[in-house]
Amino acid sequence: MQNDQKSQSPVAPVTATSTKLFSDLELIEPLQRALRDLNYEKPTPIQELSIPILLAGKDLLGCAQTGTGKTAAFALPLLQNLAKSKVRPRHRQATVLVLAPTRELALQIHQSFEDYGRYLDIKTAVIFGGVGQGPQVKAIYNGVDVLVATPGRLFDLLEQKHVYLDKVQAFVLDEADRMMDMGFINDIQKILKILPKQRHNLFFSATMPPDIAKLANNILVNPERVEITPAATTAEKIEQWLMYVDKPQKRDLLKFLLDDKAFKRVIVFTRTKHGANRVAEVLLKSKITSAAIHGNKSQSARQRALEDFRSGHCRVLIATDIAARGIDVDDITHVINFEIPNIPENYVHRIGRTARAGREGIAISFCDAEEKSFIRDIEKATGKAIPVVTQQPYHSKAVELAALMSPGKAKAKLEAAERGGGGGGGRRNRNRRGPRRNGGSGGGGSRHKSGGGQGKPSSKPSR
Ligand code: AMP
Repeated sequence: MQNDQKSQSPVAPVTATSTKLFSDLELIEPLQRALRDLNYEKPTPIQELSIPILLAGKDLLGCAQTGTGKTAAFALPLLQNLAKSKVRPRHRQATVLVLAPTRELALQIHQSFEDYGRYLDIKTAVIFGGVGQGPQVKAIYNGVDVLVATPGRLFDLLEQKHVYLDKVQAFVLDEADRMMDMGFINDIQKILKILPKQRHNLFFSATMPPDIAKLANNILVNPERVEITPAATTAEKIEQWLMYVDKPQKRDLLKFLLDDKAFKRVIVFTRTKHGANRVAEVLLKSKITSAAIHGNKSQSARQRALEDFRSGHCRVLIATDIAARGIDVDDITHVINFEIPNIPENYVHRIGRTARAGREGIAISFCDAEEKSFIRDIEKATGKAIPVVTQQPYHSKAVELAALMSPGKAKAKLEAAERGGGGGGGRRNRNRRGPRRNGGSGGGGSRHKSGGGQGKPSSKPSR
């Protein structure tokens, strides 16, 4: 089943929106009806490109991340293929198997199959760790058309013979890069050995480093390749700001920003579970409704938190990178990087939580003295300097200077500024109520060279 990668037909990265309608894609009426119910008007680029390939039964290598509409890109054609094949699942068997790295993503994918397949006679189930296996075993007992699973729990149930995979006709590996990061590679390899050799394969990954390309090469047979570049498509709609702040004052800056009701639906990112809990405590004390999701929370607590956030019951969700991966919540107005990610790719994923489905969004990063190098790495990786907002009440001149030059020079410059040469820019201006972008009309603040003089004061977060 090995394939020759050279036989792929690469498709240029897609950044434009689709001009086609779903009715141009030869989807059957029950699917069209479900899409009308959901108010989906046009296919996204990945849907436009992938659906015909998958309806034709070809293998697919999709380079795309959550937020591009990739779930419908594979769920719709797989549902149609199932409906047409009329194969019924047998006892403890699945016809389509979808592997996803996290519980949240597995639940969302499962929900998508249910939503799109609502007018078809399709049985689905989702299995994931962290909860009792009883109800999951029961759900697959009579067999399912579509099984969505995280690798660990699937492997557990396979070993206990609660599920068999020898009748799988289509196999989807979603977020393969994250699977690797999370150490699922051995489970995946074992699952691959059990699957029938003849099958339809779909492989999705946001990035394609050599180890992922190798895994794809082992799974796919003469795949078509579809590449969507979300960084290019979303970056234009995401306004990015950098705020220099001393570490102990990050919490005050956060409270200051969240006082602004324009921050309607906000994700606050931390690097660690610990950090997430600390932010949650700060917000609780300030009576700002928030919920935290991270690996230490029970499955039901995470689901409840997401539900509260989705429904608008709480406007702030605090998350770590892994927990947030695959969160499917639209209308996120702001992403706040309370701690800067040490991996540039995570920055792109984080800020991509906002400005989804064509909307606009703002991503704000709090950078303290220890995080300057992370920002440098991010700017290098994205090829773009992030404009600095100096006119916010907790702006740290010290961090700003240190970011601009070597540590020794920064200290000397700061001392000179504080002796009176700096025009008062070294002190925080607590009278100013809203953050303004560098280069705005306010005067007093220093100017970061990457901020430029053209940055308009943004109306959105100012109070
Ligand atoms: P995904 O990338 O699969 O996580 O999808 C991101 C979000 O876009 C989800 O909330 C989907 O419900 C939504 N979505 C997917 N396809 C479309 C479409 N063609 N039109 C409108 N919304 C869509």
